[in-house]
Amino acid sequence: MPTSREGPFRVETLLSAEQIQARIQEMGAQITRDYQGKDLALVAVLKGSYVFLADLARAIDLPLTIDFMGISSYVGTKSTGVVRVTSDLNRPIEGLDVLLVEDIIDTGLTMQYLLENLGTRRPASLKLAAFLEKPSRAKVKIPIDYKGFVVEDQFLVGYGLDVDGKLRNLPYVGVLRGGL
Ligand code: 5GP
Ligand code: MG
Ligand code: MG
Repeated sequence: MPTSREGPFRVETLLSAEQIQARIQEMGAQITRDYQGKDLALVAVLKGSYVFLADLARAIDLPLTIDFMGISSYVGTKSTGVVRVTSDLNRPIEGLDVLLVEDIIDTGLTMQYLLENLGTRRPASLKLAAFLEKPSRAKVKIPIDYKGFVVEDQFLVGYGLDVDGKLRNLPYVGVLRGGL
């Protein structure tokens, strides 16, 4: 896979923009079939999932709502296991069919916390769409209803994933390599 220079970073492509878009069309079609006639509410976890959310929402052919939850669980490149709600949903989800939209399930600790938290709000149903899963790092088992790609234990950037706040805007997913 090609390596690109992105500012001061060197990034090796893991998933190309074309691969990602093709997979998201499939996921959107599946979700469209599964939620026919339901009140679909997408709940996205900031900030990492914003790119996946934008593409996935447009691949779903249903009337739906979107709300955001701000969660902070990661410092630098190591999972801390400490989850903090930095901003809550704007609207109640009681009675709604909620689909949580997340960028990557790593240890699973963030999702474990969020699924439990949202579950107490009495949604009609609660499922999870995750763009990426890193199963080798799992500390808790999280059932992923819609999964984009399974990846190895490498630090990834792009398509919403950041390194110290940067590179979220890359249209592809890459592995951070050393300097050029
Ligand atoms: P978990 O609680 O599952 O360990 O943490 C999930 C969060 O950690 C993700 O939502 C994401 O923000 C961050 N994360 C996990 N793996 C990576 C990675 O490879 N690259 C980046 N940039 N963030 C990651
Ligand atoms: Mg996240
Ligand atoms: Mg991050």
